Amino acid sequence: MTSGFQTGDAATLRIVVLAGGVGGSRFSIGVRESLRRRPGAGASGFTIVVNTGDDLWLSGVRLQPDVDSIVYALAGVNDTARGWGREGDSERVNAELQAWGSGWPWFTLGDLDLGTHLARTGWLRDGLSPTQVIERMSRRWPLGATLLPMTDAEVDTQVALGDGTSMHFQEWWTRHRATLEPVRFDNPGIDRAAPAAGVLEAIAEADVVLIAPSNPVVSIGPILAVPGIREALRATDASVVGVSPIIGGRVVRGMADVCLRAIGVDTSAAAVAAHYGARSDAGLLDVWLIAEEDAASADEIERRGIRTVVTPLWMKDAAASAAIVDAALAAVEG
Ligand code: GDP
Ligand code: CA
Repeated sequence: MTSGFQTGDAATLRIVVLAGGVGGSRFSIGVRESLRRRPGAGASGFTIVVNTGDDLWLSGVRLQPDVDSIVYALAGVNDTARGWGREGDSERVNAELQAWGSGWPWFTLGDLDLGTHLARTGWLRDGLSPTQVIERMSRRWPLGATLLPMTDAEVDTQVALGDGTSMHFQEWWTRHRATLEPVRFDNPGIDRAAPAAGVLEAIAEADVVLIAPSNPVVSIGPILAVPGIREALRATDASVVGVSPIIGGRVVRGMADVCLRAIGVDTSAAAVAAHYGARSDAGLLDVWLIAEEDAASADEIERRGIRTVVTPLWMKDAAASAAIVDAALAAVEG
């Protein structure tokens, strides 16, 4: 356990968040909001390390769903009702792609969203790395955060099924709605992938690392599987605070329970905490935030050596997300 930063350091507070898409972006909005309210906010550093396991090539363009969810949400141009893509998007190009039989019939690409994918693919073909592409995409809107992919390598998540076949995570998730029971999630090549430039440095220099309430298996899992990232989290002087994506024994949105079952972890705040592990016991967490609905499991988590804070965890709006971040920072502020 590290000593915790001093309140006097507020002007230079450096926060790193590990994040997936929708849960990650709601949480990131909370981090930005919480930082804005702090004295000396302008000097704070906020870096988001984003899962790229969801990425794929489709109709000749590179998609980065979790990166785009975070960019669009921080820019305020996301479709909040639908939960993905751009607000006010249309699907003319998608209809034409379908007529050509290009792409996946069950996977819709909005026109504005396709503009993002075309721009990204063009820059990749010009020779920019994914890190450089994301840096470039981040200039269009004032995001209030530095976005880094977990790696520049293409390590798309594959879902292995019981019959020996496997499919891309996006097909399993979007087409089959996670109804096919997975036996394993793989990121082929990830053991040879390097963290993107700046990731290890950001973790090493952080005051606080926050693990967003993202899917522990297919969002946070791939980030932790990039060689060096887990070690950096264990070595940093920063406090590592995780936020439970499970409330009252249920996933809030999505199908994380199916993913957790595949890796033998119960859908509970305590089981996910045990999965991440206590930093004092070869794991990652100094502190774990759980919802009031799960308060009864606080003692069990504490016995594992993880300081546990009970607080409302519903990210219904920016203020609610910011309150979660306030609670996380308060837990480690010395
Ligand atoms: P994805 O990449 O779009 O699937 O999004 P993430 O992996 O970042 O987040 C998905 C997870 O966020 C789900 O498994 C939910 O359990 C969790 N989640 C969604 N909304 C909330 C919320 O309001 N509060 C909490 N604590 N977790 C949430
Ligand atoms: Ca995702």
